[in-house]
Amino acid sequence: MTPVESTVASAPLLEVEALTKHYDLRGGIFARPAGKVHAVDEVSFAIAEGETLGLVGESGCGKSTLGKTLLRLVEPTAGSIVWRGRRIDQLDSGAMRPYRREMQAVFQDPYASLNPRMRAADIVAEPIRNFEQSGPAEIRERVAALFDRVGLRAEQMPRYPYEFSGGQRQRLGIARALAPRPKLIVCDEPVSALDVSVQAQVINLLVDLQREFGLSYLFVAHDLAVVEHISHRVAVMYLGRIVELTSTRALFGSPLHPYAEALLAAVPVPDPTVRRERLILAGDVPSPIKIPTGCRFHTRCPYAFDRCRVEEPTLKEAAPAHLVACHLREAPASVGPAIRSDDAQRGKATPNGGVPHG
Ligand code: SF4
Repeated sequence: MTPVESTVASAPLLEVEALTKHYDLRGGIFARPAGKVHAVDEVSFAIAEGETLGLVGESGCGKSTLGKTLLRLVEPTAGSIVWRGRRIDQLDSGAMRPYRREMQAVFQDPYASLNPRMRAADIVAEPIRNFEQSGPAEIRERVAALFDRVGLRAEQMPRYPYEFSGGQRQRLGIARALAPRPKLIVCDEPVSALDVSVQAQVINLLVDLQREFGLSYLFVAHDLAVVEHISHRVAVMYLGRIVELTSTRALFGSPLHPYAEALLAAVPVPDPTVRRERLILAGDVPSPIKIPTGCRFHTRCPYAFDRCRVEEPTLKEAAPAHLVACHLREAPASVGPAIRSDDAQRGKATPNGGVPHG
């Protein structure tokens, strides 16, 4: 596999600002309010035309909810979604229709996301019928071309989803997403249910389709090797917030947030002669119902100091085009202890002024 180029220079296709999704919890026989699940909290980023933004983090950190919220498959609690300069988060379903066509999704479980009672050709044709006035002959031709483009055969068009392998079903899901000629596809763990050998084929297909059609992707995944391969930039999420956002090269070369550092340290190195220093996280991810005060990561962060327990850090530029939400990456005069590489390994912060960038 050849990694994508590291930079994409073009105007934002999608911009989200302080996007938030909370779910109300109710309990008791009177269904009284019993708290909120903070699935996504004030998340901001942009995706350029032809760009892939990777989104990584542990299970339950809000990655999938963020993807569904920006597609408006679930309604945001607060914040804005701007599509090609137009705000779309408050549009009603009729006004939203042309934008739905331009924003499609590919989901993790290709079997669950395909209607088992529909033939493959109808699954791919459905969005064309929904969004366009094309006649039957033209639709048939478009569907056949899409089958060919994603590596399926024409004789498979009358078959049902259960007659396809896992990889073929995901190709079918990709063909369905491509059918209305979208600009952005949210790929939600699109290869994690597939065999490793098939994963590479599907990833390469997505890269080829991006080059051919100028697509943008929000690529949600927990497999960091896959994210590194396909993404131009990567956002790291923890408990509903983005804690680091930068180019793929900068993140994988020198992560600046302790959580990103720990995630990358957990990736196995294939060469047994290479010893990588590991940052081991203590404890479990806190509940999104009971978010810790201050920095959400302080209950597991080996560098946490007093300020971390009371003040939540905001996402700021710690190096050119490298955003981080950590007090230790702010201007040295304004912070407490800073990380020294030897102490980092022992899980201690030290009270000196220098703040290394990776
Ligand atoms: Fe750790 Fe404090 Fe930085 Fe949060 S703000 S990541 S607790 S050092």
